[in-house]
Amino acid sequence: RRNEDYRPSTAPATLKARPGNNITVAVRVRPPTRRESAAYGSVVKVHPPDSLVFDGVEADRAGVPAHVRGAARNKAYTFDAVFGDNTGTAEVFAMTLPLLDDVLAGVNACVFAYGATGAGKTYTMAGTPSEPGVMVRMVEHLLQRMAVADEAYELSISYLEIYNEKIFDLLVPSSGPLPLRADGKGGVTVAGMSSHNPRTIDQVMQLLDHGNANRTQAPTDVNATSSRSHALFEITVTSPRHVGKMTLIDLAGSERASKTNNRGVRLREGAKINRSLLALGGCIRALCDGSSHVPFRNSKLTRMLADSLGGSSRTVVLACVAPTASSYEDTFNTLHYCERMKKVRKRKAVSNARNLAPADVIAALRAEIAELKAAG
Ligand code: ADP
Ligand code: MG
Repeated sequence: RRNEDYRPSTAPATLKARPGNNITVAVRVRPPTRRESAAYGSVVKVHPPDSLVFDGVEADRAGVPAHVRGAARNKAYTFDAVFGDNTGTAEVFAMTLPLLDDVLAGVNACVFAYGATGAGKTYTMAGTPSEPGVMVRMVEHLLQRMAVADEAYELSISYLEIYNEKIFDLLVPSSGPLPLRADGKGGVTVAGMSSHNPRTIDQVMQLLDHGNANRTQAPTDVNATSSRSHALFEITVTSPRHVGKMTLIDLAGSERASKTNNRGVRLREGAKINRSLLALGGCIRALCDGSSHVPFRNSKLTRMLADSLGGSSRTVVLACVAPTASSYEDTFNTLHYCERMKKVRKRKAVSNARNLAPADVIAALRAEIAELKAAG
């Protein structure tokens, strides 16, 4: 499955995280499938580099009911970036380049793909042999940076899925559901998770292929290969002074359980997925409001992201939407959700210090306490 066409991406970091904001939101509109383009018009008009207009006249023509349409008629949105259907993953990946420096400096970071089933999340994050996704490109760039760095870095990866609020190692699925344990530093670890040290891009692609083959897939009415699980690709970069963790997440479909017409087991999965995404929304809202309590404990997903979301970390959200009227409500919900995320305030990045002299640690903590007090 090695891909001969693939060359390391050279996309420049043209798009940087906006100053004053530690969450970057980009929207990627996928091309219509052949069936879609025959049957429906587009309801998303992309205006590069950073805006789009949702619901032109096409929604009328496509027969989207007025009560659904009403709230969103010709609504313009601006994000940090908007990518149309002629954009390759290299350009989308460029949004995440600022996070490379963070993770090499021992600051955690987090990238997630959000959107309904079929909107392009897995295409963006895992990718295909001819168009590798963000997960592959991230490791590739980190390996390149580590090769020329003065410090002795080590890189390891884990790949896991959260399915029905249970955690599975995608690279060693036979290990069964694994428990979350507090790591004593305010974060959690997954007990028994395997970790791997790929040295080449081919090795990364092999690990991803292997993991993706182990993902839980179940048919629903929406999409025959709908993924009902969250996939978390964790890259840990360790130097003698720091440890930084980058979590790249391919979230489960954000569509409502009711809409998929599910019953029994499938419905329960839908409810659990909603719970995780709801919990994520709740945490982001709390971060937005500058609330002193962020409810990370409400789901496995948010517990695992507690040390990588808000606080000391920057986040890039890659929202995926389909272009056509058949996905009208899903697209509206995704854009709405992402508008709220945009508003998360900047918080000071704190490096995960390792092996520092106790005096340094105390001084750093004192400074942080003083700053927090000053901020009220
Ligand atoms: P999701 O993971 O959100 O359910 P997928 O990533 O599986 O959706 O995408 C659904 C289909 O659309 C797949 O066949 C995928 O290859 C295709 N696709 C998604 N995004 C793009 C894109 N930007 N360019 C070309 N094809 C895409
Ligand atoms: Mg998918």
